[in-house]
Amino acid sequence: FVVLLSELSQPSDAADIAMKMLEALAAPTQIAGHVLSLTASIGIAVFPSDATTGPELIEIADGAMYAVKRRGGSSFGFQELARTGSAPASELIVSRRPKLSEQLDMAQLRQANEQLVMTALAAHKLKDFADEARDNKVKFLAMVVHELRTPLTAIQLAADMLRFGHTDEAQPKRLQAIIEEEVKHLVFLIEDLVDASRISTGKLRIELNELDVGAILEKAVEANISIMAGRSQTIEAKFSPKPILLRGSKVRLKQIFSNLLDNASKYTPAGGHIEVSIEVVGDEVLIVVSDNGIGIPPHILPHIFDLFVQEPGALTLHSGGLGIGLALVHELVAAHQGTVSAQSSGRNRGSKFIVTLPTIRADQK
Ligand code: ADP
Repeated sequence: FVVLLSELSQPSDAADIAMKMLEALAAPTQIAGHVLSLTASIGIAVFPSDATTGPELIEIADGAMYAVKRRGGSSFGFQELARTGSAPASELIVSRRPKLSEQLDMAQLRQANEQLVMTALAAHKLKDFADEARDNKVKFLAMVVHELRTPLTAIQLAADMLRFGHTDEAQPKRLQAIIEEEVKHLVFLIEDLVDASRISTGKLRIELNELDVGAILEKAVEANISIMAGRSQTIEAKFSPKPILLRGSKVRLKQIFSNLLDNASKYTPAGGHIEVSIEVVGDEVLIVVSDNGIGIPPHILPHIFDLFVQEPGALTLHSGGLGIGLALVHELVAAHQGTVSAQSSGRNRGSKFIVTLPTIRADQK
């Protein structure tokens, strides 16, 4: 028999349960007028420290069980016992050659046992995934609440100050500007959240029109210049002298470039440098945004375009995002039949984001 114990906190719990099973079996039972008392040998294999696959776990438990048998049975043992046992476990498996039908039964039983263990392992993994997804959702909700509360507090404060009268002539204007700024930030967060939910439900749709992508990039850079200057960062942009035509959405392309430029500035310390370039290569246009900022560690790089991924080290330099921007960039670029990739040589080595989009070639027009 294979017994699967899935909710144990430590291997010694398995030993406790094995003891209980042995005691239960040893209790005398009366069958057809005979009093029977059973003994059993129990071998224990522990996932994942002993092995991670079903067949291996069964093999190890088998070895431990035969080692127990060799020592007189009516006990239990872990893998170590099998290793230290004197005779190889296989010698003790059968003392006579089993008949063909027995061999077949055993093979079937073994296969069923292996399947049972594998199903249990798969269920274990699925449960781990589900637990992780649930934890991420809880963390994300906490972050959304925090992000929404900050501008709301500022708005509440400004409203209170307006109610209690003003100290100088310019104060109402200043308070109005604060309210407008914070409302803009709230709208931005909410739009990002709506887009994130569209991504996860596959409902992100965009309308494509023929446009000059170079002009859109220039506008996005212009819009970011004052924020970069505020952080004493310099920007070098290589624009195209000629229009670069493609089929795209003006709003969404601006969103792609703004997100990349905003990140380049956010994750680069004051005084850093940002470079932007656009060039046509064959049938594609290549847009590169690079910075000499905090960089991206190699273990995060493969997941950087996943929803809600944020590198904890980056949050110390800049907190205030929801980990949605790059996932949006990825989806929006894909909706334009393009690709986006990230490169970084690691911590404090800067980052580079490369977007490629198909252009409208002269002969296609
Ligand atoms: P947010 O900026 O709101 O956290 P994003 O999806 O735009 O969300 O970015 C996800 C994460 O990717 C960031 O939290 C940061 O860890 C990392 N990242 C993005 N761009 C850069 C960059 N240019 N340099 C270093 N890290 C970056």
